Amino acid sequence: MTGTLIVERLTVHYGGVSAVRDLSFEVAAGDAVGVIGANGAGKTSTLKAVMGLIPRKVGVLRFGDVDLSGVSARDMVRHGIGYVPEGRHIFAGLPVEKNLLLGAYARKWNAETRTTLDEVYELFPVLAEMRDRLAGALSGGQQQMLAIGRALMSRPQLLLLDEPSMGLSPKLVGDILAVLLRLRAEGLSLLLVEQNAKLTFEATSSCLVVENGEVAMTGASERLRHDPRVRRIYLGL
Ligand code: ATP
Repeated sequence: MTGTLIVERLTVHYGGVSAVRDLSFEVAAGDAVGVIGANGAGKTSTLKAVMGLIPRKVGVLRFGDVDLSGVSARDMVRHGIGYVPEGRHIFAGLPVEKNLLLGAYARKWNAETRTTLDEVYELFPVLAEMRDRLAGALSGGQQQMLAIGRALMSRPQLLLLDEPSMGLSPKLVGDILAVLLRLRAEGLSLLLVEQNAKLTFEATSSCLVVENGEVAMTGASERLRHDPRVRRIYLGL
């Protein structure tokens, strides 16, 4: 199954604090959409709410023909949605390969699992080299690759990524960009939440700029990266 993700009127509250207000956007099949905004703008809450990881109210949440508004986070994976959490959340005490196989938990082990594992190793040769090492022994960049690889093990059609560049050197941010562009070229849809606006503009075709839980601007990434207001606020130019 593949299709367009449609999110309409998404709202998140933490107690009395409203973190996301009536946010609406779409990710067309095969498209890559970015969400940028300052610290605390509501980016992570948006992603977690789409994934069903936190309580939210939503008018419409559909992926292709499927209504996801009542679907639990666990079942989102079965509907073709993968999630790479902020901070990676790998299992440091388990070997790299075991971490990857845990990403396939929603599917029965079969020949396809082996093929998917081989594809992930092909995408990230360093993970193949380190397959028997404990994940906690990997560098930050390698752990981010592992988090992405683990999400790919469920063979998603849409991948939600929360700040994959966080804490990485410019060289490693470049490696992440290359991976995202390759996944896009292979037809995967992406929803990318980032503080790194430059990476986001390069990896996506359109973006939402979120401020105080609301959409402040939307548009083609190429246009937004040249917008004077965006350049001033998000690129420090
Ligand atoms: P960051 O880049 O720092 O992760 P963000 O744009 O992802 O920021 P969110 O983490 O979604 O923003 O936070 C949005 C708002 O909700 C902020 O005001 C934040 O303080 C608040 N918030 C987030 N998580 C919680 C929580 N568990 N309890 C209470 N308030 C929260």
